[in-house]
Amino acid sequence: MPQQNTIQNVNRLSCPVCGNDTDFFEVADDVVITTHYTQNEDGSFSQQEDNSQILGQVRLICGECQADLSAFHDRFSEMVF
Ligand SMILES: [Zn+2]
Repeated sequence: MPQQNTIQNVNRLSCPVCGNDTDFFEVADDVVITTHYTQNEDGSFSQQEDNSQILGQVRLICGECQADLSAFHDRFSEMVF
């Protein structure tokens, strides 16, 4: 009997439309990006902090067929490290 070496991770997310399980896009609508700079003695600027605020919806899109996978977004977010 051949040995089964493939580890199948049942937690992997895959697109129900095309089966893609590698490429995904997260798309945010209405994003306000605020960046704080301080000016240095020599007139150059240093970035202090970068704040982005998402006002609209965040969608998860399949990288292959562009299907809307937003229903999986919560699960996606939990698996982003
Ligand atoms: Zn797809």
